[in-house]
Amino acid sequence: MPFSFTVTYTEGQARRGVLTTPHGVVQTPCFMPVGTRGAVKGITHRDVEDVGAEIILGNTYHLHLRPGDDLIARAGGLHAFTGWHKPILTDSGGYQVFSLADRAKVTEEGVTFRSHLDGALCALSPEKATDIQSQLGSDIAMVLDQLIGAGVRDPRSAMERSARWARRARARLLQLREDPKSAPEVIVTNPGQAQFGIIQGGTDLALRTESVQATADAGFESYAIGGLSVGEPVDVMYEVVGHTAPQLPEHSPRYLMGTGMPDDLIECVARGVDMFDCVLPTRNARNGQLLTWAGVLVIKNAQYAEDRQPPDPGCGCYTCRTFSRAYLRHLFMAGEMTAATLLTVHNLYFYLDLMHRIRDAIGFGSFGKLRQEFHQTFSRR
Ligand SMILES: [Zn+2]
Repeated sequence: MPFSFTVTYTEGQARRGVLTTPHGVVQTPCFMPVGTRGAVKGITHRDVEDVGAEIILGNTYHLHLRPGDDLIARAGGLHAFTGWHKPILTDSGGYQVFSLADRAKVTEEGVTFRSHLDGALCALSPEKATDIQSQLGSDIAMVLDQLIGAGVRDPRSAMERSARWARRARARLLQLREDPKSAPEVIVTNPGQAQFGIIQGGTDLALRTESVQATADAGFESYAIGGLSVGEPVDVMYEVVGHTAPQLPEHSPRYLMGTGMPDDLIECVARGVDMFDCVLPTRNARNGQLLTWAGVLVIKNAQYAEDRQPPDPGCGCYTCRTFSRAYLRHLFMAGEMTAATLLTVHNLYFYLDLMHRIRDAIGFGSFGKLRQEFHQTFSRR
């Protein structure tokens, strides 16, 4: 199946659609659980399917360092290697280079760094990040982009360099797609792979507009909004998304990277975003924090020691159908690994159920009502 996207319903800026990839169809707006090293932390692929995920994320930096994209390519690509046969999106690895690797040094060519695992000297360039993802064979590959503060001093330099890197990454992908014999060192494991450009520009709206034009010129299958959820106030994030998303091509899915809390998802769908990912539901689960229709629930709190209610009475997941807050609190306090598993199952189900309800609401023209009701019951505290 070639990559395609169709918008089926709209309500204001909110869009419902269908994304088709070589490994299957994804209903949008969608949330993509993060499977950094080829697994969603704490749960099996079967759990990931059971909670309703149609696409997951893989991490280029981590998989390149261990077990290596050469090994994964020899195994037939990430789908064959991991046994997850639905769509996969891989990030470019840039974010992890700047946040995890030692002594990352950036030049116009790319970035050199020392592996956080064994100190080995590694290099990542727009072309190399494209090659790695071609070997991984994800359905959607992301371009390497330049983060603000990582080697450049201001949002304009980062945005302009990202646009130059985007053109190089696109040229490399087209070369691998059209003339794979010219790069015999790369095993292309998914010839139908799509590639997304990334819009940068920090919180400067004019720079965001320039970045949209410069990145769209390279002719990607679609585009992501990057460089947000990095500590800016939430209303500023909403403003940048509301400004940028409607400028992106109408017939391509719009991906907001690394966001966020459940109320952020609703607000950004309202501003035209179709795809999300975030470590929040899985990471917070491992820290004992549940996201529920009423808001955040911290399971270790003493008030739940004899609470026989399900974690979220409004949730239909395996955890909520089967276990009490008291039992989950006991598992968490005792350090049982099952606690992380059961809390992760709930949090991901909650996120995916929320996206399901958002899609239904857009289809029925009641998204505005859902948005209003959600804010009345969901509390971040
Ligand atoms: Zn649940």
